[in-house]
Amino acid sequence: MSSAQLGPRYRESVLKEMAQGEFDLLVIGGGVVGAGAALDAVTRGLTVALLEAHDWAAGTSSRSSKLIHGGLRYLEQRNFALVREALKERGLLLNRIAPHLVRPVPFLLPLQHRVWERFYIGSGVFLYDRMGGARSVPGHRHLSRQAALRLAPGIRSEALIGAIQYYDAQMDDARFALTVVRSAAHHGAKVARGARVIGFVREGAQVVGARVMDVETDQEFVVRAKQIINATGVWTDDTQEMAGGRGRFHVRVSKGVHLVVPRNRIQLDTGLILRTEKSVLFVIPWGRHWIIGTTDTDWQLDKVHPAASSTDISYLLDHVNAVLRTPLGPDDVEGVYAGLRPLLAGESEQTSKLSREHSVSQPVPGLTVIAGGKYTTYRVMAKDAVDVARRAMTTSVPDSITERLALLGADGYEALWNKRNALATSSGLHVTRIEHLLHRYGSCSTDVLELIADDATLGEPVSSGSDYLRAEIVYATSHEGALHLDDVLTRRTRISIEEWDRGSGSARDVAMLMARVLDWDDVTIEREVDHYVLRVEAERASQRQPDDQTADAARLGAPDIVPLRGDSRGGAREAAQHELVDDIAAMTDGATKPSEGLGSGGPPALPARG
Ligand SMILES: Cc1cc2nc3c(=O)[nH]c(=O)nc-3n(C[C@H](O)[C@H](O)[C@H](O)COP(=O)(O)OP(=O)(O)OC[C@H]3O[C@@H](n4cnc5c(N)ncnc54)[C@H](O)[C@@H]3O)c2cc1C
Repeated sequence: MSSAQLGPRYRESVLKEMAQGEFDLLVIGGGVVGAGAALDAVTRGLTVALLEAHDWAAGTSSRSSKLIHGGLRYLEQRNFALVREALKERGLLLNRIAPHLVRPVPFLLPLQHRVWERFYIGSGVFLYDRMGGARSVPGHRHLSRQAALRLAPGIRSEALIGAIQYYDAQMDDARFALTVVRSAAHHGAKVARGARVIGFVREGAQVVGARVMDVETDQEFVVRAKQIINATGVWTDDTQEMAGGRGRFHVRVSKGVHLVVPRNRIQLDTGLILRTEKSVLFVIPWGRHWIIGTTDTDWQLDKVHPAASSTDISYLLDHVNAVLRTPLGPDDVEGVYAGLRPLLAGESEQTSKLSREHSVSQPVPGLTVIAGGKYTTYRVMAKDAVDVARRAMTTSVPDSITERLALLGADGYEALWNKRNALATSSGLHVTRIEHLLHRYGSCSTDVLELIADDATLGEPVSSGSDYLRAEIVYATSHEGALHLDDVLTRRTRISIEEWDRGSGSARDVAMLMARVLDWDDVTIEREVDHYVLRVEAERASQRQPDDQTADAARLGAPDIVPLRGDSRGGAREAAQHELVDDIAAMTDGATKPSEGLGSGGPPALPARG
């Protein structure tokens, strides 16, 4: 069995190995930073274990704006070092590390003031194009009002006097992080999701291991390691507390909400970036959709399922409507997602001004903590964390090689891309389906095509008009570590934000495909489908609430398929679930009927908790 095949049998055997051995390094947190640390360490020759409490990338790393960027606004904040570093990473990711997953994306930046703004912003974009990994994307260009409107006919002509178009890069964040995890496993790291760290083991002052709960079976075991890295993002403080004390820095949590709308609702041939009072707003091309985001507000409620309120949604619609010829309404919104930024605290009251830089510290011997940063710089964060951990190791450990290391699926990707027409002919799929596979799996697409060669029905779409093939569901379960329906509909595919019914309609078919690999019986299939449908309805209910408190309470109404034992808010969560689950179940009788957008159908507002 290839080590990159993270199916159920892999998980079973790896958990046994983890409980028996001692590792050079244990990494806690399966977001992009923890996955990056595991890959960095294992390719330096260390023995590595990686633990994730929920699913790979279930935290912030599946809920970002999905941009690999230097961040034009950090340039305005004069944070040149951060921008340079991020742009260097952008170049590495596009050209060497993940050319199959990361691709250039154009943005139009409308100008409203004739002379000074073109000069001021133009100079910034000029600098942006020349810093760090310059030339990895096409250069910027200045546009007159007419030229800008030709590219962006959906924008009101009074909304701009001209524009600048520049390029950044984008990816599917959940897929990217999963590919880093699989790359680490491919190089020999032992990786397990659904494995929550619930405490640390000490010998004297030194942390020498972690107490872990397999949340699928409720079994506890200990993983021993010479060094441990805490890469738990917005949970950093909670994990630090388990080790005793708050550590050297504190993570402040800020919520960012995005909307997904169909491509045909906004007439643009480019992405768009708009300045807002506090920050910027992006309209990002996303397959047959646009992603619109984001907000930036303090969040102190549930961290596992951050909820978007109707106020967040109105904020985004109002800001984008300020420039659109045909305004968007709630009924145009197909999907909504909220994510939490792990910001290093203490520098500013306003979260949009807090640092996107990262910090590494060793608050307790044996435990290194990494926090802050942004997706784009995950590799640097990972390298810095492993560098700090290696200082405490007695053997000599080589320097990081990840700058030169291609992720799984990158090698051979270009050759396959050039052969895509031939692949279409041999597989019987349309060439756009082959391109879709190549952009998601790179050269590992051949694994997916083999599944189709063995069973032609897997070459069909998941549901009529779906972008995803049935083979991708099977592959997500056999190779990509999916254990629950939510993993597949939310992160392995993006059906949960891309379809009007948010996946409720295809849930049963998807569960039946997963059942082939996971040996689910009918009762398990029903349970998975019911949980997923309840989750969708709780999310819809939360998005009709006016504020964070009521949205959070409504979202907590849907139980998790795997109860989050040991979570600091477990009690409140369970109380809310018991109180609300019956209401939702009653209201969602026949919930698999798609209800379009945010404005129509669905249950009425749910009461606030407490
Ligand atoms: C709205 C928004 C937009 C953003 N847009 C961008 C962007 O466009 N570009 C960019 O570069 N950056 C962006 N970012 C920032 C970027 O997404 C984050 O910096 C990055 O994803 C953080 O990754 P992480 O691995 O540190 O955290 P996470 O992805 O949250 O990973 C931490 C993991 O630790 C796990 N965990 C927690 N406790 C335990 C435990 N006890 N045991 C085991 N596992 C545990 C969690 O389940 C979680 O999966 C954005 C962030 C947000 C919120």
